[in-house]
Amino acid sequence: MKIIDVGLRFNGLRQNNNSPKSIVVHHIEANNWTVERLNSLHKDEFGWAGIGYHFYIRKDGAIYRGRPETSQGAHVAEYNTNSLGVAFEGDYHKVDKEMPQAQFNAWVELKSYLFNKYGIINIYGHKEVGSSNCPGQYFPLDKIKDGVIETIEESSIDNILYGITTANVLNVRDGASTSNSILGTLPKGTKVKISPQYSKGDWYSIYYGNNGGFIHKDYVNINGQEGGLQEPIIEENPIIYGTVKVNSVLNVRDGASTNSSIIGRLSNGEKVKIDKRYSQGDFYSIYYGNSGGFIHKDYVILD
Ligand SMILES: [Zn+2]
Repeated sequence: MKIIDVGLRFNGLRQNNNSPKSIVVHHIEANNWTVERLNSLHKDEFGWAGIGYHFYIRKDGAIYRGRPETSQGAHVAEYNTNSLGVAFEGDYHKVDKEMPQAQFNAWVELKSYLFNKYGIINIYGHKEVGSSNCPGQYFPLDKIKDGVIETIEESSIDNILYGITTANVLNVRDGASTSNSILGTLPKGTKVKISPQYSKGDWYSIYYGNNGGFIHKDYVNINGQEGGLQEPIIEENPIIYGTVKVNSVLNVRDGASTNSSIIGRLSNGEKVKIDKRYSQGDFYSIYYGNSGGFIHKDYVILD
């Protein structure tokens, strides 16, 4: 942060009569005024020692020094002896409805500088400690009191993806190539958070440790966008095996019902290969012939 001191000249200014315990903020109710012009107004027309404020923040974020901090200000009658006056360019009562980001950010920097210097904890709008509508109805007073420097929000946040690793052991590298160093490994089925914005070529950029890493795209199943609330499902193997257990024979049918046609029979003790994806109700879908068949679950003992 830079405080610009243009060397304003004062007329009979008293020194060392101010011990700041709070900051009072103002608008100057005008635009395009230089700090010199404000000084002239207060000195020549109002007959004061000079500019009544200690700081003046232009809309472009430039911060000007006004009256020395050690001198009592002339900005709010009841509070001048123990405060610093900070004036904002603009007419936030009638004309300006939003504060430019540059002006706001400059204020936040000035505020933290003054807090460090004085341990000041109170910030008031002029109207809160004097009879005035200053700093105006549109002045963002709450934000001015609490604000921190605003940065542009990360636009990629909407594009976060989740995936599940499919390799038995997957290397995490510090760059998007196999020649980059291995930072660590992920076991199969690890849920990873992917930033598409930083992914390159065949490599996903993932959240890993404090600095992130890269994994090859071939070994990740993408589950969907963040915000879908859907926890990725680790798909289990749909193929299981069982053994037929019947007194005589077990019918193999062409559908999952006793009304379906019988296409063959299995004997007690025969092994069956079951596909859970196609099994329905009380019937297992099994590998049988070229087209598969269905057998009743009651007569199968799973391995
Ligand atoms: Zn004011």
